Amino acid sequence: MGGGRLRALVAWAVKVFELRRRLEAVADRRQDPAIPGYVITAAIFFCGLLRIRSLNALEPKLGEKPFMHLLGLVPKKHGALASADTLSRCLRQMDVATSRAVSVGIVAKAERNKVFREGWIGAMHAVAIDGWESVSSDTRHCGACLVRHVRVERAGQIVEVEQYYHRYVVAMLIDARFDMVLDFEPLLPHDLRPCRAAKKNGVDEGELTAATRLLRRVKQTFGWLEVVVADGLYPNGPFLTAVQQLRMSAVIIAKKDGDEPLKEALALWGDTPPQQAVDARKAREHIELWDCRDLRTLSTYDGPLRVVRARVTHVDQPDKPAHTWCMVVTGVAATRLSSPQVLKMARGRWHIENTGFHQWTTRWQFAHVFVRDGNGMQALYWLFFAAFNLLTLFLYRQVRCYGRDRATDVTRTISRLVDEMLDDLARLDRSPWDTS
Ligand SMILES: [Zn+2]
Repeated sequence: MGGGRLRALVAWAVKVFELRRRLEAVADRRQDPAIPGYVITAAIFFCGLLRIRSLNALEPKLGEKPFMHLLGLVPKKHGALASADTLSRCLRQMDVATSRAVSVGIVAKAERNKVFREGWIGAMHAVAIDGWESVSSDTRHCGACLVRHVRVERAGQIVEVEQYYHRYVVAMLIDARFDMVLDFEPLLPHDLRPCRAAKKNGVDEGELTAATRLLRRVKQTFGWLEVVVADGLYPNGPFLTAVQQLRMSAVIIAKKDGDEPLKEALALWGDTPPQQAVDARKAREHIELWDCRDLRTLSTYDGPLRVVRARVTHVDQPDKPAHTWCMVVTGVAATRLSSPQVLKMARGRWHIENTGFHQWTTRWQFAHVFVRDGNGMQALYWLFFAAFNLLTLFLYRQVRCYGRDRATDVTRTISRLVDEMLDDLARLDRSPWDTS
């Protein structure tokens, strides 16, 4: 029987995660559709899973027997399935909430199956939040595009042109074993509006507005999350207050020496020697730490703030300049973290950029414009994220060498599995859905 890993993944996803039922539950607003919604949804899902580069590249596959087997259809009964135009039209009319439910349902089921029970640092469950720009263009745009003005060189002259782009804030569960997409929220044109008046960099301010919306929904959906981890854009009163209202903790990178509460912490520390020094033997690092609790100098936040500073030097490269990290910490749960743990969590934020954004752009086809429509893009990303999460869980739970490989390069490990599954697809001689 052909189909190896791909067959194993689908059979496992059906049995453990009810994948068929979840894909069938995705709705769209087409009237009397000639092609059932499930076929479209499943085609997009596997387009994401197998990293097929565009809807045009997907179209011919939809007429091939192996792909029909993959969708669980009987080839001779259905004939050729759908054109790229039909897929695109359906995505535009897809109900995003139901497409989101596929991914959210998979993560929630994994939680019920105790996959996340151990937690991460200090047995806590951490969500990293960060902005992600998926696509941009100087020429083509849709109704949901954000617009900014950029300077470009045209025929030897510097001119200002409009640039169109889509930007999201992504929430990712970070863990030593796996990273999974929990949710994402688009930046809307009106998110950027207030800051244009304030003549600030519109993207940053808009990201905070969208991130606050996102965080509320994430906590509502996954109540077991305890800590938010974010970069230097986020250690400000309004965002920390939103974290506080959700009864969560936060570990946020602080970069601006002149901003409270970092300003006060730096003044208190002055030239004092570190309160703690540790040697991370494996990483060959020497880490000096300063930790200061109960600061109340940020006027826009009502509560105590903790600031941790870490100076990291490399044992083998004494000439290399030390790297200094500063973190603002809030919330009851995070008070239990030691200073080295706070540093470790802040450095773990890098997962969202590496196993998230970087991989999606370089290995997956997320930066390709599959459909030029705000609703269609969100519906598609949700199905792609469902595929990404399922693949991550499959590697962790079902592939024996994964633990060892992950330590070296998780992105390459995932790529290798996808390549293997593409080979499997060619040999798929019957549906992997029927697991009876
Ligand atoms: Zn657009």
